[in-house]
Amino acid sequence: MEHQSISRRRGGGPSTRPVWVATAAPGPELAPLAAEIEADVLVIGGGIAGTATALHLAEAGIDTVLLEAGQPGDQATGWSGGLVAPDYIRHTPETIVTALGRHHGEMLTRMIGGSARAVFDLVERHAIDCDARQDGFYTPAHSEGLAQSQRGYADQWRSRGYDVRFVEAREARHAFGVERYCGALRFGDGSWHGTEAIHLLLAPLSPVCCPDAAERLRKPSDLAQEFLLRSYRAEEWPLWFAVAGAPCPKIQGPIFDSSVGMAEAAARGVGVGLVPIAMFANELASGRLKRPFAAEVPAGSYWLTWLKSREVTPGMRAFRDWLLDTLRAEVNESENGASSPRPMAKARRKPVKSASNKRRR
Ligand SMILES: Cc1cc2nc3c(=O)[nH]c(=O)nc-3n(C[C@H](O)[C@H](O)[C@H](O)COP(=O)(O)OP(=O)(O)OC[C@H]3O[C@@H](n4cnc5c(N)ncnc54)[C@H](O)[C@@H]3O)c2cc1C
Repeated sequence: MEHQSISRRRGGGPSTRPVWVATAAPGPELAPLAAEIEADVLVIGGGIAGTATALHLAEAGIDTVLLEAGQPGDQATGWSGGLVAPDYIRHTPETIVTALGRHHGEMLTRMIGGSARAVFDLVERHAIDCDARQDGFYTPAHSEGLAQSQRGYADQWRSRGYDVRFVEAREARHAFGVERYCGALRFGDGSWHGTEAIHLLLAPLSPVCCPDAAERLRKPSDLAQEFLLRSYRAEEWPLWFAVAGAPCPKIQGPIFDSSVGMAEAAARGVGVGLVPIAMFANELASGRLKRPFAAEVPAGSYWLTWLKSREVTPGMRAFRDWLLDTLRAEVNESENGASSPRPMAKARRKPVKSASNKRRR
């Protein structure tokens, strides 16, 4: 991307042009809307909300028109500071549950928690030339009271599978180069050192067991009589019980570092495992494993990763594109109510038609 200098106005005052307008490549020249047009969906407003909505509709193959009073990004979106912050402003993952209820609260937390990843995926998918930098986001704590609260917020995010931690004052000082903060909440960049990563899917956890055990289990609290198998993440069962609305019993079963091992033990009647349910569709379909309760908890994700040091080959690119297209098609189909599993289909794409009723200034 080529940068132009942001010229000062005559008289030496600061520029009043948004930095993005001054520095980014010019957008398309959009003609005013002069004729009647037909579409299945009309999206009004070409800020981030409208353009993202129109794009997703178009990617789902829906005939969409985006109507903007000025030019795309003219209002708040054009004036934003450009920080990609996957966090609530006035809520936390727990307070949102109090406000909206468990189901909708967790849904919103998944959306917020995945929002930064979605932005960077979008930039990558459409090869948007915008100097995107994905290296984490900090919310600094200016008081010891806030620092204490942030330690708890970090736990709330982490227990849901997000890369969030509290950075103590000394590390914050080093990161920011200033003394005054008592620490900071750090939302990680979602990737691993030396590794490129694309977020594919959330991996919700749900209990699985052998058919005999499933016969005994009528309600979540019946699990207190079973041997509960767990991963090294001790918080997973308590989170699942919170979603299921039952008190969490003492978890005494063995600890597994592989979901496959845990599911195998569950299938052999050792106990009830808590596993990423999507991985075991075949075992569930064959009846070897049973899923006694529908409740699931989002506590992990699937990623596509490769080493930064490795040159991306055409084969790797083709595989990545196929995987992302396939996933999009699957997600579209399941959101449209189709039963799963479905044959994999290529995502249909239609371009978004844009119209403006004001000329570019
Ligand atoms: C100074 C500033 C800094 C910010 N910094 C950040 C940041 O760093 N990170 C961050 O995440 N958020 C930031 N925000 C918040 C963020 O910019 C907004 O939340 C976001 O851009 C809102 O997007 P939107 O699409 O809802 O609204 P807008 O971007 O305001 O889009 C609405 C669009 O609708 C059009 N419109 C309205 N009425 C009609 C109509 N009747 N017909 C046709 N079109 C119409 C408008 O012209 C406008 O283009 C910042 C906001 C401001 C103001």
